[in-house]
Amino acid sequence: MFTPIAGRAAIVTGGTKGIGLGIAGVLAGAGVDVVVCGRDPEAGAAAEAALADRPGAVRYVRADLTRAGDCERLAAATLDAFGRIDIVCANAGAFPERRLEDLTSAEIDELFALNVRGAMLTVRACLPALEAGGHGRVIVTSSIAGPVTGYPGWSHDGATKAALLGFMRSAAMELAPKGITVNAVLPGNIATGGLEEMGEAYLAAMTSSIPQGRLGAPEDIGHACLFLATDEAAYITGASLVVDGGQILTESAGSMEAIGTAQAA
Ligand code: NAP
Repeated sequence: MFTPIAGRAAIVTGGTKGIGLGIAGVLAGAGVDVVVCGRDPEAGAAAEAALADRPGAVRYVRADLTRAGDCERLAAATLDAFGRIDIVCANAGAFPERRLEDLTSAEIDELFALNVRGAMLTVRACLPALEAGGHGRVIVTSSIAGPVTGYPGWSHDGATKAALLGFMRSAAMELAPKGITVNAVLPGNIATGGLEEMGEAYLAAMTSSIPQGRLGAPEDIGHACLFLATDEAAYITGASLVVDGGQILTESAGSMEAIGTAQAA
């Protein structure tokens, strides 16, 4: 049994949709008060309504994390709402498909501004509050794509997700004396609006390469974040937790066929 963390407060960036909404729902279900952010106020209101039945309160704060001032404002708004910040889930991100030969300088800058700089500035803005609580937790949403695997069309996205791991490791060292842990979750293919935009053929191909035979649910990532947020995870820092139904274990299509053979035998 884990020590309850009800009454603590979290920021989940990109918590209005997809994986972030799953993380926010699991944390609020454990009694954590959560601020979710995103650019779209309608999605923010929908997230607040969807999670209104959880024991933890859920508040939406509008923020565009490509703007440094919004990262600061998000931390300040969370302190205004809940008086503390114990957990920062730096999850907001985009993953547009673009082949390297078609990528523009502006597109690369835009993606790094959100996926990497936005995460770093949000964490930085929360540091005094994370230290004050005595059990600060930073959890970044990286990906299997980039740090572990590659996929044509996502070189810029993969670069940002690997960059987050570089950030995590050095930040984990800097913040260890302050009692703050910094870890990463590496989702595989999780069923979200962002992923569904890839189309049916992509989703079917991905599902066929996952040993557990299903796409992940946003709550699968939420449960991993909840674990990393507990007191019992205090000695885990600088770690990467893959949550992918076994997808990175797949050496080839042949290895997936062998599962079928084994199941049929
Ligand atoms: P999603 O469904 O598209 O949701 C993205 C969230 O980020 C939304 O809440 C969105 O809100 C917010 N967001 C986007 N741009 C923003 C900005 N400039 N400022 C603030 N918030 C912003 O995406 P997802 O699939 O849940 O992905 C979430 C994270 O998981 C991303 O970092 C992604 O790279 C990572 N990931 C996803 C998968 C997957 O299979 N889905 C796999 C590996 C890693 P607004 O649009 O309202 O701004």
